[in-house]
Amino acid sequence: MDKNEKLEFDVIVVGAGLSGSAAAAIAARGGLKVAIVERGQNPGSKNYFGGALYTHSLLEIYPDLWDRKPPLERPVTETGFWFLSKDGMVKTTVQGGKVNSQPIDAYVALRAKFDAWWAEQAQKEGAFIIPKTLVVDFIRENGKVVGVKTDRAQGEIYAPVVIITEGVNNLLTQKLGLAKHDIQGDSAALAVKQLISLPAATINARFGLTDNDHGVAMSVMGDVSMGLPGLGFMYTGVDCVSVGVGVTLEALREAHIKPYELLQRYMNHPMIAPLLAGGRLMEYGAHIIPEGGWKDMPQLFTDGVLVAGDAASMVNALHWEGTNMAIVAGKCAAETAIEAHQKKDFSAQGLSSYRARLDQRFIMKDLHQYRNLSHFLKTHPDFMAIYPTFLNDALGMFFTGFGKPKGQLYKDILKSLTNRRPLLKAVGDIVAFGRTIIGI
Ligand SMILES: Cc1cc2nc3c(=O)[nH]c(=O)nc-3n(C[C@H](O)[C@H](O)[C@H](O)COP(=O)(O)OP(=O)(O)OC[C@H]3O[C@@H](n4cnc5c(N)ncnc54)[C@H](O)[C@@H]3O)c2cc1C
Repeated sequence: MDKNEKLEFDVIVVGAGLSGSAAAAIAARGGLKVAIVERGQNPGSKNYFGGALYTHSLLEIYPDLWDRKPPLERPVTETGFWFLSKDGMVKTTVQGGKVNSQPIDAYVALRAKFDAWWAEQAQKEGAFIIPKTLVVDFIRENGKVVGVKTDRAQGEIYAPVVIITEGVNNLLTQKLGLAKHDIQGDSAALAVKQLISLPAATINARFGLTDNDHGVAMSVMGDVSMGLPGLGFMYTGVDCVSVGVGVTLEALREAHIKPYELLQRYMNHPMIAPLLAGGRLMEYGAHIIPEGGWKDMPQLFTDGVLVAGDAASMVNALHWEGTNMAIVAGKCAAETAIEAHQKKDFSAQGLSSYRARLDQRFIMKDLHQYRNLSHFLKTHPDFMAIYPTFLNDALGMFFTGFGKPKGQLYKDILKSLTNRRPLLKAVGDIVAFGRTIIGI
């Protein structure tokens, strides 16, 4: 390329994560010249999650997904909640039936493998990947974004549309003044996770799985987070188990608890340790989850720019839905970019149909419905401490109350609740939680 020649594309995508590679694939398939700029050595090398991907979103990008042989681990055929007390556990899980009927939606995945493959699919559609390159700023003309500046010498890249899919640490979104503020301690969880290697046969035996085509995805509450607002998780890969816990930054700070201590404590729990015994540590890391959702959403577009995925706070923490939101929002952003090129209108007004596209999908509907969840957890700090342990006590008493008058048994169960929380307040908590998740 001539030194004075501008590096120009129709669309620049910042970040080859789930959202970025989805956006790039759709834009390239729509005939646009697309560059994905990724700071990591390879797509996926910087990425981290629990977790499960949802094939409904993967299929939206690649209807022929299964022919492409995606590097997925086990399908999730058993899922639900494990409620931990100090030394016990209540399981409310579902398996078979709807969870195990074809096609199964949720599959466990390892991001280092999956993201590299996901970006490769975008490349096959015609997108051009620029790895090991950090986008540091924007190029503006007449106040409008017309490209990005990177950390490379002469690293300016031009395009009339920039799709920001930079993940939770949304420095570029902030730089444009689109995000209201930096990550907030009460609405961002710090998740720490270990990936433990175990033979597939051991995993099958310990988790009660018939073969490698069955897997579990569990959300874990109660003693896992020492009662702090947060959730643990456990996912089975083919020959590895992903185990971790996420708690809001503010709660960790206030309780003076170090995240790796929390994880170690969880892994040493008498109900959990036997599942992991003898495993070899493959990966250890921490990542922020933006849990503020609706209330922390930045402005989603401006002249020449669209924001999608974690960068736009598109996560439903209770349901572990972030990947599907990121992918579908990436697709919506790409469709908007294609339309903008057709109309030759890259203004904020021209890109505003992005919001309409998101509004029609589950993304905005769900984020709006759960908009008060972080506030609920903040105003009910003991919720995660009281009810999972009560559930353990109540069911423990119920199933061991042999030879006792059952009237007394129920009084004892009630007392075990009221010792923790006055009855009216407990009813208030449940009603408030119900209202929060229904969204009223
Ligand atoms: C512990 C944990 C468990 C989770 N479990 C689940 C789960 O089970 N299911 C689920 O659906 N979701 C889960 N999530 C959430 C999910 O991982 C995210 O919502 C999803 O990864 C968001 O995708 P994204 O493309 O927006 O961002 P990311 O996947 O974070 O990708 C951002 C990309 O941008 C790159 N980048 C950033 N800044 C720049 C820059 N300036 N220049 C160039 N490149 C840049 C990064 O290197 C990265 O590749 C979990 C998250 C965590 C932390």
